[in-house]
Amino acid sequence: MNSIEQRYRARTPASAATGARAARVMPGGDTRSVTYYRPYPLTIARGQGPFLWDIDGNRYIDLLGNYTSLVHGNAYPPMVDAIARASAQGTAWPARNQAQIELAELICERVASVERVRFCNSGSEAGMLAAQLSRRVTGRRQLLMARQGYHGSYDDLEAEWAGEGGRTMLAEYGDTASFETMLARHGGEIAAVFLEPILGSSGIIAPPPDFLPRVAEAARRAGALFVTDEVITLRLGTGGAQAAAGIAPDLTMMGKIIGGGLPVGALGGRADLMAHFDPAEEHPMHHSGTFNGNPLTCAAGVVSVRELNAERIAAMDRMAARLHVEMERSAAELGLPFSIRRAGSLMNVTFQGSGAGGVHARAARMMENFHLAALSQGIFFAPRGLIALSTVMTDDLITEICERAAVALGDVARETNPMD
Ligand code: PMP
Repeated sequence: MNSIEQRYRARTPASAATGARAARVMPGGDTRSVTYYRPYPLTIARGQGPFLWDIDGNRYIDLLGNYTSLVHGNAYPPMVDAIARASAQGTAWPARNQAQIELAELICERVASVERVRFCNSGSEAGMLAAQLSRRVTGRRQLLMARQGYHGSYDDLEAEWAGEGGRTMLAEYGDTASFETMLARHGGEIAAVFLEPILGSSGIIAPPPDFLPRVAEAARRAGALFVTDEVITLRLGTGGAQAAAGIAPDLTMMGKIIGGGLPVGALGGRADLMAHFDPAEEHPMHHSGTFNGNPLTCAAGVVSVRELNAERIAAMDRMAARLHVEMERSAAELGLPFSIRRAGSLMNVTFQGSGAGGVHARAARMMENFHLAALSQGIFFAPRGLIALSTVMTDDLITEICERAAVALGDVARETNPMD
């Protein structure tokens, strides 16, 4: 055990104990694969503004915001008020509610390609709905997505499930020709092309500027729908990332920020396509869900979306740019092979490197050490290096993050054996 792990364990005995208890009733002691890391993940007790506290009482600056969804930080007072007011009226009804309409109106106003919306409970479900609708509209079965893409846990949209005889085809993200080739060869079988405007889970990677418009055009020529997955990227501009990319997708998957921190997903898009969900139509598509358009979620979502204005987005981007530059500078001074990829308020830190253990093994070990050392310095981000800022951060807090990150990077440098 290295000194980074020793320090982490020494600070977090209650997390270790609750982890052991949890593992007796939940495989791995949790219920979400992505949040796991060694030696054991923290048990969080509460969040307030830009901070989280674990059950040992340690404070962390929250640089993840539940994987980008808490764009206004934890327990944002206007959101807490909205949820409290809504919950006092009952938590769910088997009927339309006004918050739902308001949230749908806000989304349709902001995202130019979205004329109609249907709500669901996760980004994964939004992907499933998009697949069902595309198959129905085109009468085709296959879905085309990027090998590096992530669209949630619906198995037809998981790259690792794709293969011979399957219902999913893969091409290379950022490589227009690979999508054009697939569409030229198999266009007649492809119901829809799914793309993130910027790769999220694969590490915040932006494509060449003409990639999205050209793939959209190739999809149109092939008679396939073009579906943009804005589950993560909607926060990048008031019109989503699609506005900056200059595309008008047929359908858009949404989630995370539109639920104000509560579980949510939505599919939006062209009115003529979305009309298939209209139960008054002759052969409507069935789309139900006990918690679709939940009044609490929608009340919180209205606050979240309305308060994410252009000024706040620009302020987050400026703070993210400074964090990006200063963390890279600290790592460079220590001689660490470290870099950051960034899009607005989203970024991913990465280590490069080769050694006896191979390129990936050494880089993965440095990332693991940095993540754990950062936690012990009171900064919380994803084990794979994803960082998402929130609107409640300040320049002073960014300064504090830079200082703490520099100490954590120093720990990594000390633990990294040059002969490794
Ligand atoms: N699409 C993208 C781009 C995502 O990043 C995610 C989740 N991180 C999803 C879809 C799935 O959303 P959910 O976790 O709400 O099912």
